Amino acid sequence: MIIESSSRIASTADVVGELRARSSFVMVSHVKPDGDTLGAGLALGLALKKLGKRVHYFGQDPVPRNLRFLPETEFVARDLPPDLPSDALFVFCDMSDFSRAGEFLPAVDRENMLDIDHHLGNSLFGKLNYVLETECSTGAVVMHLLRGLEVPIDRDIATCILTTVMTDTGGFMHSNASAEALELAAELMRSGANKEEITEEIFLRKRVAATRLLGRIIEEMRFDHSGHYCYSFVDDAMLAQTGADGEDTEDTVNTLRGQDGVDVAALFKAIEGEIRVSLRSNGRVNVQAAAKHLGGGGHFRAAGLTFRGTLEEAFGAVDAALVAEGL
Ligand code: 5GP
Ligand code: MN
Repeated sequence: MIIESSSRIASTADVVGELRARSSFVMVSHVKPDGDTLGAGLALGLALKKLGKRVHYFGQDPVPRNLRFLPETEFVARDLPPDLPSDALFVFCDMSDFSRAGEFLPAVDRENMLDIDHHLGNSLFGKLNYVLETECSTGAVVMHLLRGLEVPIDRDIATCILTTVMTDTGGFMHSNASAEALELAAELMRSGANKEEITEEIFLRKRVAATRLLGRIIEEMRFDHSGHYCYSFVDDAMLAQTGADGEDTEDTVNTLRGQDGVDVAALFKAIEGEIRVSLRSNGRVNVQAAAKHLGGGGHFRAAGLTFRGTLEEAFGAVDAALVAEGL
């Protein structure tokens, strides 16, 4: 019975009730944080602070340079305060499983876990699981809670939520940029969200090193499956050559996916002894299902995984997983 009730999706009222009942919170973002995991957690954190709650932000990896303009990011840390109350609620944003928080997060009792997400195939690991797969971003999911909490949406909260919408829709370009997503964005702009700043910081301004790295990735681009599949890689040598770092690889996979005739793209990132793979699809092939074969996850059109083995083995395994999904 317990398993049955805990595996259901919680109602907005239940989650709002839980948030009201607790006094301390840890907003947890996933490893290699993006605009959605951070924007969603920061927005809810700001709202809870307005209600007089104590809020901490846990993030195993540093906040990427292009997201440091967001409010509260200076408080995101890898350690938790020693005096954290034992009934603090850990709020996991934008992760299909709690392991995405990373190994530095201390063990958390399921009773103290709230899972807020929009991924397909969320493992429903929390006491409460507020997973709305039809929402464009986890921030859009959080918006329902902010309405339920009746917290006024100020400029900072609006900017955090608009960041989640813009990053997860690829600047309103992906298929999840629905009419509802655009309506939400309009509402957030009316609340003072700074769309110009988000656009400049996240989408327009690039480090020169990142652009040089993109050039190298494009040089290494390969095509297979009659031109429907494009893949490339980045390794430590390419980073050293261009002066770029792992953060500068964000988004380059979309350039590969955008090549004429390409349905699916993969970028293999062999950095510091780990191989991370980013997959993108135009909607013909389900890359979330392909990633899942290899222990990863994500969305139908955008997914990722960590591969254990050599780069050549990763190329082969990902190819096979994509073929199994119809590539
Ligand atoms: P990206 O390629 O931008 O790193 O990730 C694309 C999408 O896949 C994001 O929604 C991200 O949360 C998800 N994702 C990336 N890597 C993993 C992974 O290792 N496991 C799971 N479950 N999801 C992932
Ligand atoms: Mn997301």
